[in-house]
Amino acid sequence: MTASITTRYETIIGLEIHCQLGTATKIFCGCSTAFGAPPNTQVCPICLGHPGVLPVLNEQVLAFAVQTGLALNCTIAPYSKFDRKQYFYPDLPKNYQISQYDLPIAANGWLEIESPDEQGKFYRKRVTIQRLHMEEDAGKLVHAGAERLSGSDYSLVDFNRAGVPLCEIVSGPDLRSGAEAAEYAQELRRIVRYLGVCDGNMQEGSLRCDVNISVRPVGETRFGTKVEIKNMNSFNAIQRAIDYEAKRQITALENGERLVQETRLWDEASQRTVSMRTKEGASDYRYFPEPDLPPIQLTPDQIEHWRSHLPELPATKRHRYQEELGLSPYDSRVLTDERAMAEYFEGTVACGADPKLASNWITGDITAWLKTQKQDIRSLACRPSDLAELIGLIQAGTISGKIAKELLPELLANGGSPRALVEARGLTQVSDPELIGQWIDEVFAAHPQELSQYRSGKTKLFGFFVGKVMQKTGGRADPQRTNELLKQKLAP
Ligand SMILES: [Zn+2]
Repeated sequence: MTASITTRYETIIGLEIHCQLGTATKIFCGCSTAFGAPPNTQVCPICLGHPGVLPVLNEQVLAFAVQTGLALNCTIAPYSKFDRKQYFYPDLPKNYQISQYDLPIAANGWLEIESPDEQGKFYRKRVTIQRLHMEEDAGKLVHAGAERLSGSDYSLVDFNRAGVPLCEIVSGPDLRSGAEAAEYAQELRRIVRYLGVCDGNMQEGSLRCDVNISVRPVGETRFGTKVEIKNMNSFNAIQRAIDYEAKRQITALENGERLVQETRLWDEASQRTVSMRTKEGASDYRYFPEPDLPPIQLTPDQIEHWRSHLPELPATKRHRYQEELGLSPYDSRVLTDERAMAEYFEGTVACGADPKLASNWITGDITAWLKTQKQDIRSLACRPSDLAELIGLIQAGTISGKIAKELLPELLANGGSPRALVEARGLTQVSDPELIGQWIDEVFAAHPQELSQYRSGKTKLFGFFVGKVMQKTGGRADPQRTNELLKQKLAP
């Protein structure tokens, strides 16, 4: 397909994201939510849907859902309720799921994404959040006997996940490309991780994204036929699935085919979307109010209490880093990806370090070291004040950047005062012209051949002499002063 055909169409994307709320127990009973336990060991009559049992809402679920709604700039409903969503599926022991239908806990919010365009220039965009609601998860089917779903001899069901609390967050149809959708999902993951309400682990299913996608000719205001894609377990897969599906739909329309409203699965192996089933409408679920749970009523004071406990969120931090600290959009983004890293950076700046230098050390050498050591910034022995001291020593000319890099692994592993380490090792930078001059003379004496070559015109040997002085002094000679003195001494 040529680019000119793709540019005649617009891709309309909305995301439904399910976040598993990180409570210790399930949404309506006291069973554990821990991941990885043997099948059917974390179950009870309530989450197995036995007759006559009564669900009770876990208060922590409500708190987490409201905090997430507030972080997404939503209006929190003073009155909301649970509903039964009816469907039959083997992993759903009650044959209905307790969810929220017409009165969700939060609605009408927005989330800002900041992402690079095709030229790498960052732009900001607000994506509307239509609604956020609480619901319970279903169990998990394990198809045994064969890898093909339909070819399995039998299926097993694990109800450990049944009744695990979820919040579903539905965006408006505001996203226009796979890259934008992936950025939206990442930003949402950052937010729930900052809040500490969800670990965002896509591999374990703590964060699941369903994509609604349609295409329409540019200029058309009505929406095209919507297709839902499921089963993407990385941000990269979201982007690729959307890009594939948009092309598939455009090709179909160009060939005069009719698209059907359906659910498709992303097949990672073949990098295609494949049809799964035609999509149910809301009327098929026959929602009705859950009679066993009272409606949820919140006072303005309760909502304000939760609002006052929100941390500073990634988008606010990015703005502040760019506008107040002068960092680039790229650096701000890397530093704010994880709350712990942002806090480490802010701690370093609070101890007086230059923000740009602190950013370079943290996103560069320190991140690389953490990766190779498989360590977390939260358990780093080197405190933000230690890093600020190291940066101060470089800026004051006490040590060179090269020496600082050499000291870094030891500081990161053991912590402690960089100044004390520099003094104990005798690593202080030497700027005394007499001493440097003496070292240069010694280098000249040791390399008479190079010296005469230089004097007869081979001036690129200048770097050789600089290198020898540095080698001789273990990097302690002030590089700028060394350069100046070498130039003087080598001048004809
Ligand atoms: Zn239970």
